[in-house]
Amino acid sequence: MSAKNTILIVDDEPDIVNLTEKFLKLGDFETLTCANGRDALEIIEEKYDEIALVLLDIMMPGTSGYSVLQRIKENDKYKDILVILFTVKSFNEDIQKGKKLGADGYLTKPFSGKELLKYVQDKLAN
Ligand SMILES: [Mg+2]
Repeated sequence: MSAKNTILIVDDEPDIVNLTEKFLKLGDFETLTCANGRDALEIIEEKYDEIALVLLDIMMPGTSGYSVLQRIKENDKYKDILVILFTVKSFNEDIQKGKKLGADGYLTKPFSGKELLKYVQDKLAN
């Protein structure tokens, strides 16, 4: 696992943020959370050297997850941050678009907390 241990959770649904945060803490991760893309970009700018991975919702009011993903992937400073998209099951277009923009993985909603924790641990172990 990388030395960085902080996961940024970005989702406009509080239930998703709460579930995600709870399980990541069980896995001894530090967490940061926010509910929109604009705040996500501010947090990343401030704390990119601590953030190992971003869990990023696509559908949010204002700045979309795609825009946030694009901004992360075009900035060399952020090149070691993994970005995992939260997508709704069966939205194959999301996965295609995310892939083009450089997403490092996908978690389809709904997911269980256990699944999520294992997925994140596996991603960071590679
Ligand atoms: Mg959403």
